[in-house]
This record gives sequence, C-alpha cells and structure tokens, in this order.
Amino acid sequence: PPILIWLRRDLRLDDNPAIFHAAKTGRPVIPFFVDDDKHLGGAARWWRGRSLLALDSALRSLGSHLVVRRGDALDQVMSLAQESGATALHFNRRLEPRGLAIDAKVVTAARAAGIEIVEHHGNRLHDPWTLKTLKGDPFRVFTPFWRRLAESYQPPAPCPAPTALTAPSTWPGASDLAALEEHAPWTAGMTTQWRPGEAGAQAMLQRLPEKLADYGTARDRPDIEGTSRLSPHLAWGEISVHALWRQLSQEGSPSQNGYLRELGWRDFNSHLLYHFPRLPVDNWNRQFDAFPYRSAPTQLAAWQKGLTGYPIVDAGMRELWTTGWMHNRVRMITASFLIKDLLLDWRDGEKWFWDTLVDADLAQNAGNWQWVAGSGADAAPYFRVFNPITQGIKFDPEGTYVRRWLPELAKLPTHAIHEPSTASLSELSAAHVSLGRSYPLPLVDHAKARLRALATLKALGTAA
Ligand code: FAD
Repeated sequence: PPILIWLRRDLRLDDNPAIFHAAKTGRPVIPFFVDDDKHLGGAARWWRGRSLLALDSALRSLGSHLVVRRGDALDQVMSLAQESGATALHFNRRLEPRGLAIDAKVVTAARAAGIEIVEHHGNRLHDPWTLKTLKGDPFRVFTPFWRRLAESYQPPAPCPAPTALTAPSTWPGASDLAALEEHAPWTAGMTTQWRPGEAGAQAMLQRLPEKLADYGTARDRPDIEGTSRLSPHLAWGEISVHALWRQLSQEGSPSQNGYLRELGWRDFNSHLLYHFPRLPVDNWNRQFDAFPYRSAPTQLAAWQKGLTGYPIVDAGMRELWTTGWMHNRVRMITASFLIKDLLLDWRDGEKWFWDTLVDADLAQNAGNWQWVAGSGADAAPYFRVFNPITQGIKFDPEGTYVRRWLPELAKLPTHAIHEPSTASLSELSAAHVSLGRSYPLPLVDHAKARLRALATLKALGTAA
C-alpha cells in the first residue's frame, strides 16, 4: 500500500527526511499539500503558489507529482488515506501553534484508523522542548541560548534527493494547482526579483561564499547585496537549514560564525513562540500592556506606502511593497519609526509585514517586532530609538539604496539624500524636488518624537 507524504513548509526534494525515508521503503508514495491556511499573507501566498508549481515539476521528473487538496487538513488527510488505501503517513515536524494543534489531531485520528505515523525532524536546528536553562526553564536570553545550541547541535545525517519515486496504481483526486498562483498586478516586482522553489534556492546558495567573505560589515548595508537573501527559501523550506549548517560549519567554530549566529536567532524566535504561543498577539513583557499606543490611520497609511518624509524609511517600505522583502537593517529602522516615532502599535506593523513579506514567518516576524518594540524577550533596550537620518548616512552612505527606491529623490546631492530639507533651494530645484509636493515633508520631527517616546516608555516603569 502507498505512503502519504504530507508537505507543508518543506517544499524541496533534497535533504527532506519525509520524502527520503518514505522513498527508501520502495513503496508507492503520494506527496500532497493541503491548502488550509486562511491567514496566509498576500506576498507569502504568491511565493507559495510558485513554489508548489516548482515542486510539482521536480516531482514529475521523478515519475510522481504533487496532489493539492483544499479544506480542513484533518478531513483531507483522512479522505486521502481512504481514497488511496495508504497505510502510513510521513511528515516533517512544524512548530507554530496552529500547525502543532492540527498535527496532534491528525496523528490521533490517523493512528485510530490504523495508519502508521512517521514524524521527522523539521527545518529548525533544535526542537524547543530539548534546550533548557540550567534551572530547567525555556531560554529568554539569546547569548546563552546560542552558546548551548552551537555546542550541542549535531546535524542529522543527510537525506539526498531521491532519483525516482514509485507512483501509486491510481492517484487520488486533486484540486487545480495552478489555481494557487497569484497573478495580481502587485506581484510584478516579486516576479522580477525572485525565483521561488528549490532550484532558485540552490542558485542563491551558489552565491553565498562571495557574500559571506565580508558578511560582518556588509550585512548591515542595504545599498549592497551583503546578505544571503535566503530567508524566503528558508521560510518555505526550499532549502534545509541542516544542509546549510553542514556546508558552513566546515571552517572554524560554529558559535563564532556570524552567519550561523543569525540562523541561531531564527531558532531562538521559534523557541520563544513555542513556549509563548501568544507572541504574535501579546506583549512578552506584560508591562508594555499599559503602553498608550496611538490610533492614527493616516500616519499608518503613510508608513505603509513609504510616504513618511524620511527617505530611508520610505525606501524600505517601497522595497517591501515592490519585492516582498526588505533588508534587515531597514526592517529595524522602519519598525522603530512606526513604534517609537509614530507611537503606533507594533502589532499594526507586524500585520503589514505579515501581508507583504514573501518570507513571512510567524515566529520571526513577531519575535523581531517585539525585539524592536522593547516588549520582547531579550529585546533592544527601550532607550534605543533609531535616528532615521543618521542610520541612513551610516548604512547607505552614498544614498544608493534611497535613490533606487525613491526615484523622486534620485537627483539630490548625497549630502542631502537622507534629509532633503537640508538641500539648498537651487539643489532642490536642480533635482526637481518640491518638498511637500513631489516628496512629503517629515510626518513628525524625529528629535521631538524621540523625547516623546522616551517619556512614554519611562512612564511604564523601570523594567520596561
Ligand atoms: P542573512 O543576513 O543572509 O541571514 C541568514 C538567515 O538568518 C536569514 O535568511 C534568516 O533565516 C536568518 N535571520 C537573519 N536575521 C534574522 C533575524 N533578525 N531574526 C531571525 N532570523 C534571522 N525574517 C523572516 O524570515 N521572516 C519574517 O517574517 C521576518 N520579519 C522581521 C520583522 C522585523 C521587524 C525585523 C527587524 C526582522 C524580521 N526578519 C524576518 C528577520 C530578518 O530581517 C530577515 O530574516 C533577513 O532580512 C533575511 O535576509 P537574508 O536572508 O538576506 O538574511
């Protein structure tokens, strides 16, 4: 009888334990995906549609294909088992609260129906219940967490991609895969920028060594391609984090490797979400519940559209809207601006990122937003309020990034690119910039907004 392989955010053939172990049995396999997530953001949906098509075509070259079903996951898994006569179900572990709850239900129902369940490790370096502090608690501070993870982690044995898959004698019914593709006009910039799927991830990976040569400093520069841009591929499991570790840990100590350390942050946020499932909704530090967030829909919309009057913030927000991705340094600057300069709720920003990021990941998004807000575990200290002008000057010194995303400022001289109001009248006119018309005046005065944020945060109490 066939084996069902349930694929979720592990859309790859290489180093995919569920596919590898199911294929190794020599029995027919039915790889399937259930479209049951109504909360997925728009950009992530675009990515997913493309990635599933890529996976289907890779599976077809092995004599198989992807079965896509729509609806409640429990119903779909059980009816697939019934239709196909499958007696085993393989999947790779996922860790988000919703996924864990669904998997628990499926496992119980499938076992009761006599179906063998084979669960494999997921696309994180650790399972959150395996790492504890000396006192036996979950970790709350990154550095000791990372030290422990880097010391204890052993990559699991590689699971090479199969060279062929045995097809079942009859395939169960499937819904139309192409219906999952997004073709809306807002996807045009993403289509130019990205190649979702395992082959695209591998192409990006090829370029990793050249990017890592100077990662320590280049990673903070949005004007150059100094980071791997692997985040959407990792978020969709088109590349295995274990394979990445095996490749990168060959030289030197993992704990000293700046890139592996970022993968450590990815695990840390997953650790936090597992132990605090309300991370996307509630302040991790409950003292922040008293924070008097403002409601200012017009200012929120200006931030979303990249019309705040602060060039580095606006460039980031437009990069996000156009490509579904934003550089990490600029994510921090734009998030800090929303929370601390505008005093808007970090959850408003988290929701917007969720809808617009191709790498949208519940743990990473919520963990990082709370980190910037100061309300998270091991968060940035509350008094750190990014200055959007000096950050711009420091990390985009020539203004290349701002010019790329804000064509209306492209001709401004470099000395004024991060603060257009400092350009002389003749410079503004030569650059065809009319402040307040072709480019907005600053939404708030940063110096005043900073003092307002500090006073508000101080009023929350000493621990905040
Ligand atoms: P690299 O610098 O090449 O890093 C390699 C990998 O390490 C990344 O692909 C990513 O998986 C991981 N990583 C790097 N930085 C972080 C970090 N700060 N936290 C966790 N993992 C990290 N990342 C997401 O994957 N999904 C999100 O939804 C997300 N939301 C964010 C929201 C905010 C407000 C901020 C400040 C950061 C967010 N990040 C998120 C983290 C980070 O910005 C991206 O992972 C990074 O920009 C991806 O680019 P890269 O692959 O070139 O990174």
